[in-house]
Amino acid sequence: MSESNHTTEQATVPLLTPSPKDNNIVHYAESPTFEYDVIVVGGGVAGAALAYALGTDGRKVLMVERDLSQPDRIVGEFMQPGGIEALKRLGLESTLQDIDGIMAQGYVVCYEGKQVLLQYPQHPTTGKPYRGISFHHGRFVSNLRQAAKGLDNVTVQQGTVNQLIEDPEWGRVVGVTYTPSPSQRQDATDQKPSASPTPVFAPITVVADGGSSKFRNSYLTLQPKGHSQFYGFIMQDCTLPAPNHGHVILSKIAPVLMYQIDTHETRVLVDVPNNVRKEYNNDVRKYLTEVVLPDIPEVLQAKFVEGLETSRLRYMPNRFLPTSQNGQDGLIFLGDALNMRHPLTGGGMTVALWDVVHLKQLLAPDMVPSLRDTHTVLAQLQTFYWQRKSRSSAINILAQALYQLFSAQDDPDLRVLRQACFDYFQLGGTCVSTPVGLLGGIYSSPLLLMYHFFAVVLYGMFCFLCSSSSPWAFVCNLARSVSVLWMGCKVFLPLLWTEIC
Ligand SMILES: Cc1cc2nc3c(=O)[nH]c(=O)nc-3n(C[C@H](O)[C@H](O)[C@H](O)COP(=O)(O)OP(=O)(O)OC[C@H]3O[C@@H](n4cnc5c(N)ncnc54)[C@H](O)[C@@H]3O)c2cc1C
Repeated sequence: MSESNHTTEQATVPLLTPSPKDNNIVHYAESPTFEYDVIVVGGGVAGAALAYALGTDGRKVLMVERDLSQPDRIVGEFMQPGGIEALKRLGLESTLQDIDGIMAQGYVVCYEGKQVLLQYPQHPTTGKPYRGISFHHGRFVSNLRQAAKGLDNVTVQQGTVNQLIEDPEWGRVVGVTYTPSPSQRQDATDQKPSASPTPVFAPITVVADGGSSKFRNSYLTLQPKGHSQFYGFIMQDCTLPAPNHGHVILSKIAPVLMYQIDTHETRVLVDVPNNVRKEYNNDVRKYLTEVVLPDIPEVLQAKFVEGLETSRLRYMPNRFLPTSQNGQDGLIFLGDALNMRHPLTGGGMTVALWDVVHLKQLLAPDMVPSLRDTHTVLAQLQTFYWQRKSRSSAINILAQALYQLFSAQDDPDLRVLRQACFDYFQLGGTCVSTPVGLLGGIYSSPLLLMYHFFAVVLYGMFCFLCSSSSPWAFVCNLARSVSVLWMGCKVFLPLLWTEIC
């Protein structure tokens, strides 16, 4: 279906009244006529992949995206092997082609002049090592949107969704109102703004409007929290110490990421904690030059300075949002609107794409012949929240826990743990392959993660005790080791609790 002929199908005189409680919701007094099976709000990674996935199952889908031009963002540029696997399962692997992406064999962690290589493990059956890929986010998302658009039963509209429509009698969401963008309004020729938003109806609305979701507040209990921002810029024609690897540089204050995103460009993301930014009166360039630069490996310092001077410095907040279940009939949250973690480990797209895999399976026509069968849909959504947990929790907990260790700042116990983590990686073998497999979305067990996290803590305590130069120092270090153990518990256990429960 083409984009332009869509408007002829829309409801004529809607009986919409504002919700007394919420500006983002309108009520519809009559029994709606459903024009679509599913409306997807947002055509980012999650929304576009879902529109395609449900479209290939024969569902009639409308995807409304605020801006269909190629996104230009500093997010979602490193795809873990787990994300690639999800794309394969969705039949979307080709979206990674022709985007000048750079294959990734794993990571390198650089700390105080030393570096350790963290290679992805091997596939158990093929014996080939898993691979990730880094790329320009916009090129990948454009391919996803193109794939969705290519299906006859998927309609892609450029427009901003303003409100969700609720049927007050049944207490369910039955559609959305949206304002088409100028180029797609019926009155575009005379350039008059559209008088009122357009209503569209479907038994299921999927909100995938990203990290700053407009609709989350109205339905989900948990809200995102963040303590830092990633500042991003580009280094041109830079050869990284270990090409085809993501680079994590542990600076005194917080981590720095670097990965090549095409033949010529290397992305730099520097985590700047909010308290530090305030200390520098928001003069982030000064902070990057005075504090971060000395911790960057010497071979990269000139390119770092050049990139800082010549490319645009942009920022995005780093936030954590544990999943909360939404019991609203007819409404599903997906992607960053549902769940976020610190982007240090590049896990967001992997979680979002696996959620699409689960939803596609659970809402498949042989499981749910009609999406108007609210009882069956709700039951399948309950299963969805449990099914997604093991992979998403492992990725989320690892991202948050690693970030706390890598942004130790002045905390002595966290600094011991940061050192312990680096030393643990240096042991090699499963001390590398399992953690990096969890990070890559290849393994999906929070218990396996817990095992390795506390192995790091115990290893840190052990190394700390071994460094004692006298019996008295040993006694002092024993007390400190208990404090380190306590810190490990304080980092990990609350995360486990919020993610598992
Ligand atoms: C700094 C940073 C770096 C990151 N790096 C990585 C990484 O390397 N690897 C990784 O896997 N993840 C990374 N992530 C996370 C990743 O970007 C997200 O998990 C992923 O983009 C989520 O996809 P989404 O579709 O939910 O949201 P988005 O990609 O944000 O898409 C939401 C879409 O909804 C549209 N929209 C919003 N409101 C409306 C509306 N009212 N009407 C219509 N459309 C609307 C937007 O225009 C947008 O296209 C990073 C995140 C940050 C903050």
